[in-house]
Formats: sequence, C-alpha cells, structure tokens
Amino acid sequence: MDCPKCGKEMDHGFIRAESFIGGVKWMAEKSSKSLGMEGLAKPDALGFCFLEGYRCRDCRNIVIQY
Ligand SMILES: [Zn+2]
Repeated sequence: MDCPKCGKEMDHGFIRAESFIGGVKWMAEKSSKSLGMEGLAKPDALGFCFLEGYRCRDCRNIVIQY
C-alpha cells in the first residue's frame, strides 16, 4: 500500500494494544468509559488486541484495517 500523504510504499504490520475490558474501541472523543463503545478488535486469550495496518515512517502516518 502507498502512503496517502507522500505516495511512498508503506510498511505492513500490526498495532498491538493490551485490554481486558472488551478490546480496542472507537470513540469520537476521548473517554475512560468502556461499556457501550464501538469495539474494533477483541482481546485474545492473553489480553492482547491486534489491528492490521500500514505505516509511513516519513509522514508518521498509519492506516489501520479493522
Ligand atoms: Zn508518507
């Protein structure tokens, strides 16, 4: 995948988060609430969440699949 900002080829990889309350969530504004938020990635048996995506080291831009 090419960077949408500069057009260079991006690195494939994963964002890892650690969560024991339902996994990674999307929210329009920062919140400490967990219940009722839209989940993007559920934690595995060890409590890790993985989101697949691409990053551009030059722009520090990340595109994530969920
Ligand atoms: Zn870029």
